[in-house]
Amino acid sequence: MEINKIFLNSPYFIRRKKPQNTEGSSGATPVWATPEKPDSVQISTINKALDELSRVEFLPNDLIYMQNLGIKLPFNSGKEAVDWIKSSNTEVLYADFSNPKVHACLHWDEKNGKSLIMINSNYKNNCSFADVLAISEAILHECGHGKDKDSENSIQEELNCMGLNVLAHRFYRQKYKDIFTGHNSFLFSQGVSLYPKLFFNFSLTPLKERIAEKYGYLQTGDEKHCATSLANDIKDIYKKATFV
Ligand SMILES: [Zn+2]
Repeated sequence: MEINKIFLNSPYFIRRKKPQNTEGSSGATPVWATPEKPDSVQISTINKALDELSRVEFLPNDLIYMQNLGIKLPFNSGKEAVDWIKSSNTEVLYADFSNPKVHACLHWDEKNGKSLIMINSNYKNNCSFADVLAISEAILHECGHGKDKDSENSIQEELNCMGLNVLAHRFYRQKYKDIFTGHNSFLFSQGVSLYPKLFFNFSLTPLKERIAEKYGYLQTGDEKHCATSLANDIKDIYKKATFV
């Protein structure tokens, strides 16, 4: 396995056909990642996460709710995602990111036609059961990005991939009850525990504002991810906030 510094093209940088196009320019700070060779404990955490993920079934009412929001899930279950990892020879590693706020990232290696899923190495020694589940959610999100085999990203693609980790989180909460209670580290408070709250909220405004802040610079939709009204609303919030 080759361990090199990787310039990430997703989600913080999108390749633009027209560099002069202002859409996507602001906030698209390039991020570098240095993958790390995992030790045996870390390999075991990743394997446990994949094992849990393979048993994730999205809750029927959650699926209807997401569909009504305009979310098109890239996978119908955790097993589908794990099968995709295996069939596509996708590797899952930890990596040191130049931006410590990135939970995980996908690198699409166009030359070799392979995806690499990288989890922030800040989480590499976290191996409580709640951590294992959180890591599995991060892996699932990145599988959603990897499935389309390109390095392009959009607000709609992010929404679709977030739908995956949100539904996995809700499945785990039903299966393991209060497993996430008391877990308030960055991975949870600004990641896996935050988005289920924002998606399943009476008002969608906090969700739109959060995604506008994080991903508003991306194009609204793309060829493979047709923008819905939710993505359009997010883009409008971003434009108003940044006077684009
Ligand atoms: Zn993403």
